[in-house]
Amino acid sequence: MIYRPLGRSGLQVSALSFGAWVTFGKQIGDPVAKKLLHTAYDAGVNFFDNAEAYADGKAELVMGDILKKSGWRRSSYIVSSKAFFGWEDDKPNQTGLSRKHLVEACHDALKRLQVDYLDLYYCHRPDPATPILETCRAMHDLITQGKVLYWGTSEWSAAQLTEAFAICDRLGLHAPVTEQPQYNLFHRARLEKEYAPVFKARGLGTTIWSPLASGLLTGKYNDGIPKDSRLDTKGMEWLRDGVLGTGSKQKLAAVKKLAAVAKSLDTSLPRLGVAWCLANPRVSTVILGASRPEQLVENLGALDVLPRLTPAILKKIDAISRPVAA
Ligand code: NDP
Repeated sequence: MIYRPLGRSGLQVSALSFGAWVTFGKQIGDPVAKKLLHTAYDAGVNFFDNAEAYADGKAELVMGDILKKSGWRRSSYIVSSKAFFGWEDDKPNQTGLSRKHLVEACHDALKRLQVDYLDLYYCHRPDPATPILETCRAMHDLITQGKVLYWGTSEWSAAQLTEAFAICDRLGLHAPVTEQPQYNLFHRARLEKEYAPVFKARGLGTTIWSPLASGLLTGKYNDGIPKDSRLDTKGMEWLRDGVLGTGSKQKLAAVKKLAAVAKSLDTSLPRLGVAWCLANPRVSTVILGASRPEQLVENLGALDVLPRLTPAILKKIDAISRPVAA
């Protein structure tokens, strides 16, 4: 495993990390979740990503139980939570980025994960109904109380990030150290273009999500939707419609061309897709997702592929992906 600093913070994150979305507490049983977390940890993964909204809190309960029983030293791993979405049938104040929800969601996450502090606590989306100042102050206070070590954002615009930094600088508050944007061969513009000035000014870290576009970049959807895949999972119809909706024909054609590149490098599509994300120095860590231990083992092998991504290969990949990428 290799480790990278999370932006300009002193926190070292494994270049490959592991997240619980869709799988923990929902798609897979607890013994599989345990095997996945242990496989990741044994490979040197030190960051486990979670959120209040994942399986309505169950993903954190499952992860917390595994962490508790693992015997791993608390200092050997980083665990995150995120607040914003709340749960499905929530009332006012049980969602968003108000001081009330951020503090209550943090307390709930600490209980579910059975830890004394969250290493990373994210604003899962921007909240137009709450002043950014209120959010910055609440995050700062959680840090000074020792309940959170670092805070970050997920899918905030560059303008919202710039406003948060200005507020934190002006008032001497702890500022966000990381963004968590989607980044993969088919979703590039925000990280590569929109955030460029923010990276330059602040050296913001990134913990990127859906590196394989929910599986599209593994080639598994080339001939339809396999049974028991994510896009076949109950409740994920909205994602299926997104991933296999507008523009997917062109993307599936691109996946086939990428498969040929992977073959020429003597590797697999999933490894190529993950290694391509890692090749971007703006990526601090790639959060892997997996419903089976074999997938995780496969994807962890992306580290070996990284040195094979020469400028000529990256150019070839770029020519395939850029025309179909958002
Ligand atoms: P990916 O895009 O890599 O998708 C992972 C899924 O793809 C797996 O669960 C599996 O689904 C399939 N897959 C992965 N590897 C293989 C393989 N080698 N062969 C075949 N199928 C494979 O990542 P995620 O979308 O899961 O995102 C990773 C993490 O990022 C999440 O767990 C979460 O922590 C975070 N995240 C954050 C978001 C945010 O808003 N901040 C949003 C989304 C994710 P299956 O087997 O079921 O088909």
